Amino acid sequence: MSHLPQKTPRRVMRLPLLLALLSTAVLLFLYGEKWLRAALLYLAGAGWARQLVTSFPPAWYVASRFVSGNTREDAIAAARALNEKGMQVTLDYLGESVSTAEEARAARDEILGVLDTIHESGVSSNFSVKLTQLGLKLDPELCYENLCAIVERARQLGNFVRIDMEDSPTVDQTLALFYRLREAGYDNTGVVIQAYLYRSEADVRRLIDEGASVRLCKGAYMEPPDVAFPAKDDVDANFVRLMQLLLSDEARSHELYAGIATHDDKMINATIDFARQNRITPEKFEFQMLYGIRREAQEALVRQGYRVRIYVPYGTAWYPYFMRRLAERPANLWFFLANLVRR
Ligand SMILES: Cc1cc2nc3c(=O)[nH]c(=O)nc-3n(C[C@H](O)[C@H](O)[C@H](O)COP(=O)(O)OP(=O)(O)OC[C@H]3O[C@@H](n4cnc5c(N)ncnc54)[C@H](O)[C@@H]3O)c2cc1C
Repeated sequence: MSHLPQKTPRRVMRLPLLLALLSTAVLLFLYGEKWLRAALLYLAGAGWARQLVTSFPPAWYVASRFVSGNTREDAIAAARALNEKGMQVTLDYLGESVSTAEEARAARDEILGVLDTIHESGVSSNFSVKLTQLGLKLDPELCYENLCAIVERARQLGNFVRIDMEDSPTVDQTLALFYRLREAGYDNTGVVIQAYLYRSEADVRRLIDEGASVRLCKGAYMEPPDVAFPAKDDVDANFVRLMQLLLSDEARSHELYAGIATHDDKMINATIDFARQNRITPEKFEFQMLYGIRREAQEALVRQGYRVRIYVPYGTAWYPYFMRRLAERPANLWFFLANLVRR
């Protein structure tokens, strides 16, 4: 599914896009940031909005701040540059919620290819994958077959596969496939826990018993208040609580390895403080951040001696990923608007 800009006259596209975005700005003014986040996350899943935004060439210009490029070669070049700055990488082939088994297999084949390319190029990078890209919503068995092929290839190459976490209806199935892989003997794989979900503390406790590799993030999808904390302060408090569990003596005695994925100074400082207080040395965990976000903070952590891994997406299906990044920070939306007006 290509989201590359097609050739549509700019003037024709600019007006509806600007109207949509300006009405969003007005609603933001009237109802606040929470509403804007919900609106952008809704648009992330709306086909008509994808069509509108991706048909407009300047949109790619703004999105490219968060995406390393369209091709595998672009991703490897970005990974190499980050490695040279002392950072580790996890590559991601953009795409989610495929609609046919053929699309799911095509995504699997691309990922198998990029695992080979990572190996041949010598860059230091593992791989992150979304299960809906491998067919989770079509057929969990098909998804498991595709996932197994990827994890098996990674194992042969001495590499590791992180299973990203998507929206809450997919969490049970995602964890079930992760545990199934573990039972099948694959320990070169890890999962993600989202601090905004009420269920996450229970999930973390089970993952500690398992001695798994866990990435902790706040969560990027639109979730109802019966499954996720609606207030940011509660999400932040839960993030800190889960970080402390993941770095606890018990977790480390089970060999759990934690990736603390955030750009939030409060979360980063809470992690550093907890690690210092408990004499947890920097090689026992890692910070993770997204490509193109808070680059100076990424480099500062490396200078302080922490492990830092950057999530580097590539590919043409950038639209939903880009919209989630806009939703996380309203200032990105103004940057986007300013570019649309200027170009
Ligand atoms: C490596 C990595 C992997 C992730 N994997 C997943 C996953 O599998 N599933 C999932 O649901 N979510 C995932 N996320 C996204 C995550 O859930 C959050 O949506 C995202 O990281 C923003 O939360 P935050 O912790 O940075 O804090 P926030 O409170 O959102 O932001 C704190 C500060 O960070 C900066 N910042 C945050 N986001 C942006 C942005 N987009 N642009 C510019 N500045 C920004 C701003 O200065 C902001 O004030 C991942 C995030 C990272 C870093």
